[in-house]
Amino acid sequence: RAKGAGKNRYCVYSEEMGKQELRKMELEKDLHPALDNEQFFLVYQPRWNVKENCLAGWEALIRWNHPRLGIISPGEFIPIAEETGLIVPMTDWTLKKACLQCREWQARGVLEPISVNLSVRLFQTGSLQKTVQRILDEAGLDPQWLELEITESMVLYDIQEIIRQIEGIRNMGVKISMDDFGTGYSSIGLLDMIPLDTLKLDRLFTNNLESPTKRAIISAIILMAENLHLEVIAEGVENQEHVDFLLQLGCRNMQGYFYGRPMSIEQIDEWMKQRSII
Ligand code: C2E
Ligand code: MG
Ligand code: MG
Ligand code: MG
Repeated sequence: RAKGAGKNRYCVYSEEMGKQELRKMELEKDLHPALDNEQFFLVYQPRWNVKENCLAGWEALIRWNHPRLGIISPGEFIPIAEETGLIVPMTDWTLKKACLQCREWQARGVLEPISVNLSVRLFQTGSLQKTVQRILDEAGLDPQWLELEITESMVLYDIQEIIRQIEGIRNMGVKISMDDFGTGYSSIGLLDMIPLDTLKLDRLFTNNLESPTKRAIISAIILMAENLHLEVIAEGVENQEHVDFLLQLGCRNMQGYFYGRPMSIEQIDEWMKQRSII
């Protein structure tokens, strides 16, 4: 009987695997034309300065409107885009779109930075700095309003080369933030190597704040960041409890569903009106 059940489970499992594989193959096939067919769009999530109670910026997050499968999250298709190399033209598109959007908001009096996620693949092209400069010029956006988010996983690559490129980009006036901080292998060591402007505390930290250990770690990170003149943003802030805890620990900038989900431009207009931003 046990044997039968085991066999049965195995069957379900492999069928599930098969489905996943099929879906991945389908996404792989459809991803390339998706860029030309304008199936990608951006949503934006606000950053909130809790101390001053004001908007502190936007993060652009990509979505794929697949003609048959509907909206697909970046967690699913970014890895495929990285494998196939499509991530490079895709990021071009995202950067351009986000910079233009930032300009549009500026024209309406909303002066806040826009933040764009970067895959390590972009550093391997060797032309990232040029691309960023060209896109800023094309969009007519001052570099101070653009922030690029990198992750700790980048240490697995040629870190010296990445640092060289980051220095170049920062010298242009563009800001660099470390996304999902605290989830990687050598978080603290990286702070000494990579020139940064902002630390984004991963939501693993902002949740379960009842744990005294976590609270001690966060407050130490915030103190350290202050001494290093880095901004800190807590990610994944979902409720008032999170806000209260984080404020107590000295964190003033927050991002998460509590302040706003990633939203379309139309939704953002409504969101900003409700908060008397526009
Ligand atoms: P990320 O940059 O850390 O973005 C934050 C993710 O957390 C977003 O998921 C956002 O919707 C989600 N999030 C925000 N607030 C909350 C919250 O309060 N609770 C919870 N549970 N989740 C929250 P999303 O949009 O699915 O993006 C996932 C990841 O995909 C991003 O993580 C980023 O690494 C990557 N990504 C998104 N857009 C791009 C892009 O244009 N280029 C690249 N290379 N990567 C991207
Ligand atoms: Mg990010
Ligand atoms: Mg993040
Ligand atoms: Mg994250």
